[in-house]
Amino acid sequence: MGSGVDNSYRPHAIEARRQQAWHAREAARTPPIGEPGSYLYIKPSAPFTSGNVHIGHVRSYSIGDAYARFQRARGNKVLFAFGFDAFGLPAELGAIERGIAPSDWVRRCAEHMTGQLQRLGFSFDWERTFMSSDPIMYRWSQWLFLELLEAGLVYRGTGNVDWCDTCQTTLATIQVEDGRCWRCHNPVRLIERPTWYLRVSAYTSENDTRLAEREASDKWDEVALASQRFVLGRVDGVELELSDGDGARLKVFTPHADALEQARFVLISPKHPQIDAWAADAAVRERLEELRSGGLERSSRDARTVALIDTGRSLPAAGGGAPLPVLISPGVDGRFGATAVFGVPERDRTDEVIAERLPTLLAASRAGGAAHVPSGGEVSAPRPAVRYKADDFSISRQRSWGTPMPIVYCQTHGAVPLPKEQLPVLLPLDIRPTGTGNPLAELDEFVQTTCPLCGGPAERETDTLDGHFDALWLWVPVCVPPEARADSLEEVLALGDLRQWLPSERVVAGSDSGNFVFDQRIVTKALRDIGPLAFLADGEPFAGCLFHEMVISDGRKMSKHLGNVVDPDALVEQYGADTVRLAVLYAARPQKTLNWNDSAALRAHRFLTQVWEFSQSRLATAGELAAAGAGAPGAEDEGARDTTEHLRLKLRQWCEKAVEKTTQDMQALETHSAVRNVMRLFDRIKDFEKRALAREQQLGGADCEALLAALATLAQLLGPLAPHVAEELWIALGHDEDGAQTPWPGVSLEVVA
Ligand SMILES: [Zn+2]
Ligand SMILES: [Zn+2]
Repeated sequence: MGSGVDNSYRPHAIEARRQQAWHAREAARTPPIGEPGSYLYIKPSAPFTSGNVHIGHVRSYSIGDAYARFQRARGNKVLFAFGFDAFGLPAELGAIERGIAPSDWVRRCAEHMTGQLQRLGFSFDWERTFMSSDPIMYRWSQWLFLELLEAGLVYRGTGNVDWCDTCQTTLATIQVEDGRCWRCHNPVRLIERPTWYLRVSAYTSENDTRLAEREASDKWDEVALASQRFVLGRVDGVELELSDGDGARLKVFTPHADALEQARFVLISPKHPQIDAWAADAAVRERLEELRSGGLERSSRDARTVALIDTGRSLPAAGGGAPLPVLISPGVDGRFGATAVFGVPERDRTDEVIAERLPTLLAASRAGGAAHVPSGGEVSAPRPAVRYKADDFSISRQRSWGTPMPIVYCQTHGAVPLPKEQLPVLLPLDIRPTGTGNPLAELDEFVQTTCPLCGGPAERETDTLDGHFDALWLWVPVCVPPEARADSLEEVLALGDLRQWLPSERVVAGSDSGNFVFDQRIVTKALRDIGPLAFLADGEPFAGCLFHEMVISDGRKMSKHLGNVVDPDALVEQYGADTVRLAVLYAARPQKTLNWNDSAALRAHRFLTQVWEFSQSRLATAGELAAAGAGAPGAEDEGARDTTEHLRLKLRQWCEKAVEKTTQDMQALETHSAVRNVMRLFDRIKDFEKRALAREQQLGGADCEALLAALATLAQLLGPLAPHVAEELWIALGHDEDGAQTPWPGVSLEVVA
């Protein structure tokens, strides 16, 4: 062993050297399009500009980066970049808390988070990073809004929307959890308000049928598939058309095809397209208005308190039994979407509870013979039908920190879309939100404008687009070289880059991204049919999708309140980036919740320390052997019996096995298993040396050569998982410092001049 040489593992020095080298050789730069090869767009999630990178980000990006590096190491052309999701409520609240403009707050956040992510060594193409609050970017949201509006997929409705008094904003259905606001947990009210909707219902059934193709492709993991099924909320059953003899007809659905005769009542969603016909009676209308204006608390999950409005009307029963009273209830939406359903108390616990409330309710509303008794009503034969919980949702927010909608209101022409040439509609940057109301609506120089049709006075829409809407398109612009970003929308769409990189080969995101991915799949289909994404025949933006679960600590969700927040900066400071990355990969399969425990970091750190120190000392020994003329590597002493040949053969087989298994693991993003296989290979290498030394006093040239070759394989397999130390090891084993990154075993990477 070389005396005086310090072999200890110093991650901070190693990582600084490697990061500098990657920067110098532009290792993460997106390759130009148009050359032969496989082009893989690996899409990480777009972080909110929330202030800090948290351990959940570290998990997400460690998996995505391992996959991106693995694909580069195999010689593929990789696009790995993201934009900051900078608009929206969290950023606005962060700015209010600090008393600064939201634009300043998100810029500071993005700078800080970029520094944290760079220290972790993630190989994002930073040249392509963007902020969703940049006008060059949000003009795309405005463009998308206009495209979808023209196609009838964005529409303005005087609809019933969920409203949070505390946050002073409408909420999407998905933002309402058990009748409460997802953010502040206060009760949500259903109110009537003019609002803009996205018509996802136009493509829900195609999203459903294409899901089977996703599943068959094997590139969507079970959590991602489950999330799509959950958002879709498919319910299979039958529908019957009922008419009451007075010309009123209603299609009524039930999942209980075999229990039609046990139906006791009909429930209609207040969002049902024909609701007005069923609420024609003045008293009923008044109650519906009351429900819409928030006079009735929304508690749609609890059958004991969910609002029930008797329409006073009935429809004939399927089996010819007693007529079925028709009731309006928002409880339908969360179970079946904006539809009408049979209440079947014998089959459904919710219906059973509602049935218990019925006698009292009907006695109150139908006393005095006001009830309409049907005569000559008809019941059609049942036919198979499907309902989806996924429903059109509001994309308007009464908030100032968001993409302005390209709409003006003219006294003559009503709501008028702006011509695309007038984009972007700029968001004033001097707004200071206070947390209530919408300061944008109070800004005259923003609001007052002219109508593009008549030139007369008009007012701008002051609702902004929900950040969720920005996300529908913002996974696309990273496909375009940054220098082309400012070009006209038509020019950007005409670039070959979109065709080259789309669909994205793999999304790697948290399991809470199901709604984003679902709606991105919807909008891709819309843009396929409208034209700009016509080259995506199946309308699917993502060929593959991996959803990982979250990180908790001490068995609980992390919170400042509980004092169990894991700080990635402190971990990096203590152990280095490679250890932190390896630990989050090692500690759990992506599809499992990672219960953080410092022992994972200790284990990963011990492993990397051993790999480093073992390799350094063996390299020194090999150097001494060569210097002492102990034979050129590979040449055994003439005539001596080769007692370790079978050990070398065995080691070679272990290496081959490790390469085979780790390749499979990386292809399937089973990163946790990949780490274990690499750790096992290291144990085999140590074992080989021990056994060889048990037979001979010191390693011969061939044994040394075998050992170093195995260490080189180890460095290659470790490359995507702990990239800094792996590349340093690869170089120490005699590979070119200026060359391309650690290639995957069996792959020879061309060095691009
Ligand atoms: Zn709220
Ligand atoms: Zn006009």
